Amino acid sequence: MRWILVALLALWSSAAMAATPIKVMILDGASAAAYHDWKLGTQIFKRQLEETGLFEVAVVTVPPSDGDFSNVHPDFTKYQVVVLNYDSQYWPAQIKTEFENYMKNGGGLVVVHGADNAFPDWPAFNEMIGVGGWRKRDAPAGPKWYYQNGKLTSDTAPGPAGMHGKRRPFRLTARAPQHPILRGLPAEWTHAADELYTRLRGPGKNMTVLATAYADPANRGTGFDEPMLMALTWGKGRIFHSTMGHDALALSCVGFMTTFQRGTEWAATGRVTQKIPRNFPTADSVSYRADLAAMDPAQADGVLTTLPK
Ligand code: ZN
Repeated sequence: MRWILVALLALWSSAAMAATPIKVMILDGASAAAYHDWKLGTQIFKRQLEETGLFEVAVVTVPPSDGDFSNVHPDFTKYQVVVLNYDSQYWPAQIKTEFENYMKNGGGLVVVHGADNAFPDWPAFNEMIGVGGWRKRDAPAGPKWYYQNGKLTSDTAPGPAGMHGKRRPFRLTARAPQHPILRGLPAEWTHAADELYTRLRGPGKNMTVLATAYADPANRGTGFDEPMLMALTWGKGRIFHSTMGHDALALSCVGFMTTFQRGTEWAATGRVTQKIPRNFPTADSVSYRADLAAMDPAQADGVLTTLPK
């Protein structure tokens, strides 16, 4: 009897999870303000990653910049990828050095939305994310990067970094369709209502812009196609950067979720093995997961005010 149980258990566990799960650290603990609910964000990220069956997720919570770091020591080396759900001004030098060493030696990093506001004075971090916004970034942070006339352009004109209009759905255009993260996705798809980040600045080194979105001047946009999804390398490390994901509704977009799941796998391994879901959004229609949006109590009543016409 016992061997049957053991055999069944082995079968079950191999079906439920890939042979060797990818070890993910979701690092959270701070956001610039209450409008980025990092606790809720972590729950949604964890669920999206675990649903693939590919990842084993641990959550590591650290204090904001002004907190007590004396007993804080995240061990990055135990993980293949760090999902940064954290936005604060600075970190102690020791943690920064350990994180840089982790990335130099082939670590993975995923940066979502407000996490690209973090650490304006940490040069290595700004190289890793390629572009960032707010926290007094200006010309010294690097040029603004956007697509103009179908080409990636860097703009050194001074001015503050980071702006967005009202939360509306917007259309993404693939710029590197053969990149593993995008392979098989449509050339265009509509993202659920979200902030469209513009005027981001940074070194833009070793950066592949995977997808852009047109920032409509009618909604405080620049009139340029702004970078939305990026893949970068730093040392032997890989970085996936999504500027989208302001709240539960934005995070519940199937387009966000799919690129986040695929980007996390790519940052960890350099490959993507996941299939594209059938309900992936099209050029003209939004597709979102109502169960994920409802994890936000404000969305739970089913009132989604910003669906496209
Ligand atoms: Zn936001």
